Amino acid sequence: MARESIINPNSEGMDEEQFNRSLRPQRLDECIGSSALLERIRIALIAARQRNEPMEHILLHGPPGLGKTTLAHVIANELNTNIRVTSGPALARPGDLMGILTNLERADVLFIDEIHRLPVAVEEFLYPAMEDFKVDFTVDSGPHARTINIPLKPFTLIGATTRAGLISAPMHSRFGIVDHLDYWSEEDLYLRVVRSAEMLNLQYDEQALRIIARRARGTPRIANRLLRRIRDYAQVMADGKLTVGIVEKALELEGVDELGLDNLDRKFLRTLIDVYNGGPAGIETIAATLGESRDTLEDVVEPFLLRIGLLARTRQGRIVTERAYQHLKIKLSRSTAKKLTESSLFESQDNNNIDEQNES
Ligand code: ADP
Repeated sequence: MARESIINPNSEGMDEEQFNRSLRPQRLDECIGSSALLERIRIALIAARQRNEPMEHILLHGPPGLGKTTLAHVIANELNTNIRVTSGPALARPGDLMGILTNLERADVLFIDEIHRLPVAVEEFLYPAMEDFKVDFTVDSGPHARTINIPLKPFTLIGATTRAGLISAPMHSRFGIVDHLDYWSEEDLYLRVVRSAEMLNLQYDEQALRIIARRARGTPRIANRLLRRIRDYAQVMADGKLTVGIVEKALELEGVDELGLDNLDRKFLRTLIDVYNGGPAGIETIAATLGESRDTLEDVVEPFLLRIGLLARTRQGRIVTERAYQHLKIKLSRSTAKKLTESSLFESQDNNNIDEQNES
């Protein structure tokens, strides 16, 4: 089992899936966070209900584990409709989507995770479904090919992606609400951990849960995952109560440090330092050296390291910052320090440019 990395975005099996499902809020009022996104969704829901229409299509983007799937379920619950869940890679041909679309009832929610991975043919098949609630299905081929026009019941598509930059412009323009899910604040994560601990009937010290919130990389799924591992540790190694001592020891065993970095994060930084002298190095090269998938590095490792200032992106590639050397307690050679100072002069300008490129 892939236990090496606590930050692995993929679920760790049925057990964890079940655990996550049981901790998911069902209603908008139960959702943690006071983001503008929740407010926008509340308004859109009320408006749709008043007009007796399905909700607009919604595109949610952001790193994994922040609540995209949860929101889709909450919206379906609020609309009192069914939700059908699928994902980009599962829809290889238009035919795969056909059955799903024709089975949707009025105002149902169709949730497509990893929507950036839809094949072009499926994406194009989806356009008239989103816009006019109909599909054009081609039967037979060659001279006998015919296109049948099939009407659908109005539905709401909720697309989720970790890569907004990979969504095509025509796809993007068909969503009424497009929003970004950001990393959670420590306070919101703390509320999440308390709620999970209460639901699991755990005994705990407040300070112990604060440590979990601080080390969960701004991600509620990781907060729940840590809680689950710590619960096991407390049960086996002590009397089951979550105290500061127990939480610290359990997190040490999991390899999660004070900043919330896990083995994979540290391996990423160390490889950049040891093999590439701190960078710059391209993501493809780093992925090959680490033997990790580029997607995992780009979706979960990098965004967090960038956010807490241990990594910077320049035009030439990724570089490790001085703060990362301090955190890993690695001494900076004079030549590397000089290189870092030089690249940091250009870094902010480059990062701005990179952001602009990503958005366009
Ligand atoms: P994503 O789809 O973005 O990968 P999920 O929706 O699976 O993330 O969220 C992961 C976990 O975080 C959920 O199982 C749930 O426990 C928690 N969570 C997400 N959003 C909220 C929220 N708004 N309020 C409370 N808990 C949430």
